[in-house]
Amino acid sequence: MYPVDLHMHTIASTHAYSTVHDYISEAVKKDLKLIAITDHGPEMVDAPHAFHFTNMRILPRWVNGVGILRGIEANIRPDGMTDCTEKMRASLDVIIAGFHKQVFAPATLVAHTDALLSVISSGHVHIISHPGNPEYPIDIKSVVAAAKQYNVALEVNNASFIHSRKGSLSNCLKIIETVRDEGGLLSLGTDSHSAFSLGDFTECQRLIARTEFPQDRILNVTARRVLNFLQSRGMAEIKEFSQL
Ligand SMILES: [Zn+2]
Ligand SMILES: [Zn+2]
Repeated sequence: MYPVDLHMHTIASTHAYSTVHDYISEAVKKDLKLIAITDHGPEMVDAPHAFHFTNMRILPRWVNGVGILRGIEANIRPDGMTDCTEKMRASLDVIIAGFHKQVFAPATLVAHTDALLSVISSGHVHIISHPGNPEYPIDIKSVVAAAKQYNVALEVNNASFIHSRKGSLSNCLKIIETVRDEGGLLSLGTDSHSAFSLGDFTECQRLIARTEFPQDRILNVTARRVLNFLQSRGMAEIKEFSQL
């Protein structure tokens, strides 16, 4: 149903098990139009070096009818910055950032919220990954308001309801309802660590149906919407994708 998956990890992060080729094959099989390769930022214990990100420009834009976005899932640090440097950003199309305990040990609601507000207002991040993680309680109202103000999408992460971050459901419902009522954008990601789950948004769709969240504020509905969003965030137009 959604032709874009914006969150996946390759074997460049060693706790993931698929290659760029694997993801493309799966994307062809599932008729996805656009995928974002988003490995973990360099401060994750088994993440690739910064070179992985600065060199992503060598990837083709199109393979077998699938468009490839060059991305990162950066780590939010306790100082309210991420581990995605300006140099890395210059080679990337899409910047996701989220809390991971190897980089930011769970602290207090105030500390999590402050760090998130700092990252959102920095202008350097497009999507916040798994903001409903129960290990990182946040002030949902102020995070949603900031995300709307700074045009940052909040992710609904399909893996949060299957493998990871147990207990996310009630927070994620609250976040989705708050975005629905207060405004802003949602981004869907499978957070695949193997290609088999690429493009499978079954759990996200369940929450979207349950909250009656409007489809016109979900980035993944069309590839064009994602590309326009990134351009609205000041990213350069990707000419090779003009047909999308
Ligand atoms: Zn991971
Ligand atoms: Zn993550």
